[in-house]
Amino acid sequence: MPLQAWLCDVCGELVTSHSNNGLVVWRTDRTGGGFRDHDFKIVHKTIDSDPEPQRCDPGTAQGYNSSLDLDLFLGSNGLAMLLSWLSIGPLKGGGSDPRVANMDEFVDFVRRVQTPYYEEARSRFDEETTHHWLGDANEYAPYLPETLRSIADGTLGD
Ligand SMILES: [Zn+2]
Repeated sequence: MPLQAWLCDVCGELVTSHSNNGLVVWRTDRTGGGFRDHDFKIVHKTIDSDPEPQRCDPGTAQGYNSSLDLDLFLGSNGLAMLLSWLSIGPLKGGGSDPRVANMDEFVDFVRRVQTPYYEEARSRFDEETTHHWLGDANEYAPYLPETLRSIADGTLGD
């Protein structure tokens, strides 16, 4: 099932949105104009009481000074939060600078948590077959769930 399991950006094993499993970490820089978020990673949460605790969370020592449970980024509520980082919207006066430092990186992360089969297809984006079949596609066709599912299944062009 899409949007239920991800590949941990540190250990490469499956991570879920269970509150004792998935964590999103990123760097927040304070700038003159406010805050800038970047370098988003999906990782295993460190649970000391586990028989074999996983140590995937790089933590503040590595500069990842922001984190939230992975499940907060999912579904309609997750999208609402993610969009507020791009625009604070009409009820808060608008006009604010986006909190996002790098748009391509942020959208990649948003697709990972919002677009079905993006995560499953993501590791095959560099494959020659993917480029062969999608080289002439329009801007969004490669990111449609149906297309992503074909990339993930290796059935692109069948
Ligand atoms: Zn991990």
